[in-house]
Amino acid sequence: MKELADEAIVLRTYKSGESDRVVVVWTRHHGKLRVLAKGVRKTTSRMGGSLEPMGHVSVDLVKGRGDLWIAKHVTHRERMTTLRGEYARIGAGLAVVEVIDAIPTDEAADEGIFEMLVRVLLTLDNPDFHPELVASSFFFKLLAYDGSEPVVDVCVNCGSPGPLVAFNAEVGGTLCANCRSGTAVSAEALDLIRRILGGDLATVLREDAPAGSGEVMALAHEAIEVHFGKRLKASRSTAPLTPRIPVRDAPQ
Ligand SMILES: [Zn+2]
Repeated sequence: MKELADEAIVLRTYKSGESDRVVVVWTRHHGKLRVLAKGVRKTTSRMGGSLEPMGHVSVDLVKGRGDLWIAKHVTHRERMTTLRGEYARIGAGLAVVEVIDAIPTDEAADEGIFEMLVRVLLTLDNPDFHPELVASSFFFKLLAYDGSEPVVDVCVNCGSPGPLVAFNAEVGGTLCANCRSGTAVSAEALDLIRRILGGDLATVLREDAPAGSGEVMALAHEAIEVHFGKRLKASRSTAPLTPRIPVRDAPQ
């Protein structure tokens, strides 16, 4: 009988039968797995509490039918009580696991993704960091990890150094006044994106609502949705309520 032991983050769960639950996890060494947790919805179940989205767990699994694994034993690793105690942090964490769940996989392990996932959840669990830009920063970092980092220092169309006035995820980054399409972008928002991608993230997250954050959140969600080609439910719910400023068509 095939068995494995690994460390995992819970991405999503859904009900199965009377009292079971299927748990979709991203493991450190085995990539994304679907796990059947038997009896987990009974009040007496000891596994139930740790198998919620964003749960960081150790799992012992045994191969079931098809691509399904069966949970033999599950233990909590990190409780992340700060993350779970604040709506904005929970919303950001759910947006992150939803995006990870949208990554197409062929049961391929990707420890880099696992490491990024653990790091972003621990960031959300750290009261020193404001949660608002955590998911957006994660999306930009994920695009960079995937080799699809947006261009933010020159016009992606003509190479001009600027001024850069718009961002269009479809064409891969910032645009000058002559090539503009997509969404208008302020100098403050551009500066924030550059800092996020350029290694200054820890400082950015210590700032309370830095100028341009609303725009950065909208652009990050747009960029990740364009990348995966689908609308994301949770990520949209954490998007800012500020209206997007439409950009005029490029001059002919
Ligand atoms: Zn241009």
